[in-house]
Amino acid sequence: THFGYENIPLEEKQGRVDDVFHSVARRYDLMNDLMSGGLHRPWKDALVTAVNPPKSDRAFRLLDLAGGTGDVAFRVVDAGGDGTRVTVCDINAEMLAVGRERAEKRGYDHAVTFEQGNAEELPYADKTFDCVTIAFGIRNVPRIERALAEVYRVLKTGGRFLCLEFSAVDVPGLDKIYELYSFNVIPRVGQAVTGDREAYQYLVESIRKFPKPRRFAAMIEAAGFRRVSFTQMTGGVVALHSGWKL
Ligand code: SAM
Repeated sequence: THFGYENIPLEEKQGRVDDVFHSVARRYDLMNDLMSGGLHRPWKDALVTAVNPPKSDRAFRLLDLAGGTGDVAFRVVDAGGDGTRVTVCDINAEMLAVGRERAEKRGYDHAVTFEQGNAEELPYADKTFDCVTIAFGIRNVPRIERALAEVYRVLKTGGRFLCLEFSAVDVPGLDKIYELYSFNVIPRVGQAVTGDREAYQYLVESIRKFPKPRRFAAMIEAAGFRRVSFTQMTGGVVALHSGWKL
């Protein structure tokens, strides 16, 4: 199956990605629940457990890259103590606007700030953050190596990088079901709820194109990270990668 996103030039990819999230921003959170059958919640919980923010009032600065509407940020604030501060950085103004509204409504605005920025060129000084997370974001970035280099740069020495991303299903039987679900159900539900079928076709293709976990781990290592590891969840539907700046 070919929807036309496979061979677009690198320079055009970001523009297409921005259109996708511009068009779905208002319905993004609803769609997450629908498409994943609520599974994005336990996946994000696993990410937050790995972040392990201090429960005390010790200062802890997290950058949640491609943080969109703030989901991961809010969970980390819930899990952490009074010293936990999260910066949500995302390239898309609409996603950030939804995030700011949610933060205000739910009382997170004291601990979470939303800033526009590109993962390939982060607007932060070297060694600013104790931890950097990116959930379902890295596959949208055209030049993944640049983003990994930037994450490494803005992390403090001793800091940790955690990346949650769709991966490769490796359970016989489940792979077929997953394929059918991805190519048939997701674009249709996307069309019905957001009116934008193409956006969700893009989503499915970008998942299929993303490197397999071992290859992605090698890319993280190549960016300078140490003790790189990954855990697969839900039969490989997603993987959580980890690396340390030591
Ligand atoms: N992390 C959030 C979550 O898990 O709910 C949002 C994930 S959403 C699937 C992907 C996000 O990546 C979008 O908000 C999009 O704007 C953002 N994004 C895409 N390209 C980016 C880039 N180059 N730099 C920063 N963010 C980017």
